[in-house]
Amino acid sequence: MSRPLRWVLVGASDIAATRMIPAMRALGQEPVAVLSSSVDRGKTFAEKHDVPAVVATLDDALSVPADAVYVSTTNELHRDQAVAAAAAGRHVLCEKPLAMTLEDAADVVRAARTADVVLGTNHHLRGSPVIRTIQRLVAAGAVGRPLAVRIHHAVELPQRLRGWRLDRPDAGGGVVLDITVHDADVLRFVLGREVRDATATAVNQGLAAPGLYDAAMAVLRMDDDVLAYAHDAFTVPHAGTALEVHGTEASLVATEAMTQEPDGDVVLRRRGTVSPVQAGPREDLYVTGLRAFADATEGRGRPLATGVDGFASLAIALAVRDALHTGTRIPVTPTIAVENAA
Ligand code: NDP
Repeated sequence: MSRPLRWVLVGASDIAATRMIPAMRALGQEPVAVLSSSVDRGKTFAEKHDVPAVVATLDDALSVPADAVYVSTTNELHRDQAVAAAAAGRHVLCEKPLAMTLEDAADVVRAARTADVVLGTNHHLRGSPVIRTIQRLVAAGAVGRPLAVRIHHAVELPQRLRGWRLDRPDAGGGVVLDITVHDADVLRFVLGREVRDATATAVNQGLAAPGLYDAAMAVLRMDDDVLAYAHDAFTVPHAGTALEVHGTEASLVATEAMTQEPDGDVVLRRRGTVSPVQAGPREDLYVTGLRAFADATEGRGRPLATGVDGFASLAIALAVRDALHTGTRIPVTPTIAVENAA
């Protein structure tokens, strides 16, 4: 059993309600308070999800006795809330993207380091049994030398999430900071390599407000000249998702890999034969992530995605954003920028 963490929820969000609170409770962890900028929303949320306290300010949130803070507000708020939570001595699990700029993401990493608390970025796909299986097999040499990765992550944005993602660039709306940032983390995790530069094209297919992109394709060059592409969208209802890793000796192909469910099938293709691969255990992705986070607070291992990982995925997403704005190839800021930060 992992440590029964007491959590303060910063943000009365959909992801806290639908995924994180159930995952906390599955592990014997408990949300002890929720911070909302709206008294009514906070009360409704607390009643519906059985959270004992509602608070209206960050100061009040950080004076509630607790072990950890889960930040799941809109993205422009992450930096200040995560920095304050770390400074108050709370372990911090922050939603992706870690912040809106690399300077702000570095501030979050530094604050956690200074306070000596655990910082995780909630890249839930690292908890996916399918993605973890592919990561293990690639590391064990199953595909030989990796040559290319294809990520199909074009989905239809559910109705209930059609708010700030579609009309608030200041909050990190648009497909790149919402979905491409997850792909960026998956690439680094699965390949154990860094992304070096990005080119991209994006369009507005009519769902997002004018000026925001709801569909994008990015081409990424990784270490050892591995090439990757990602197709990300809010507008594609029927495609399904996939993750493919192609190497000199074999290819690993996973369907329904880029989702919130522990589903999906993996096959190994090699010289005309297709062999199913057992992926498992089929645990909830958020449970896997929260267990690793709780263990890290007791000195056992690290969160599945650390603060530096959150910096790195943001650096890639921002390079994609700059590439599609400029029509040029953009280098990715290396993580060394934050690893060496005081
Ligand atoms: P929501 O829109 O549900 O919540 C974000 C904020 O919006 C809340 O903090 C809340 O403010 C406010 N809000 C919530 N409901 C309403 C409403 N009905 N009307 C007006 N305002 C409302 O966001 P998500 O849960 O979709 O995303 C939150 C964060 O989590 C983002 O950073 C996102 O990128 C990330 N995310 C991560 C996922 C993952 O799997 N890792 C999946 C989905 C999202 P207040 O707190 O002040 O009440």
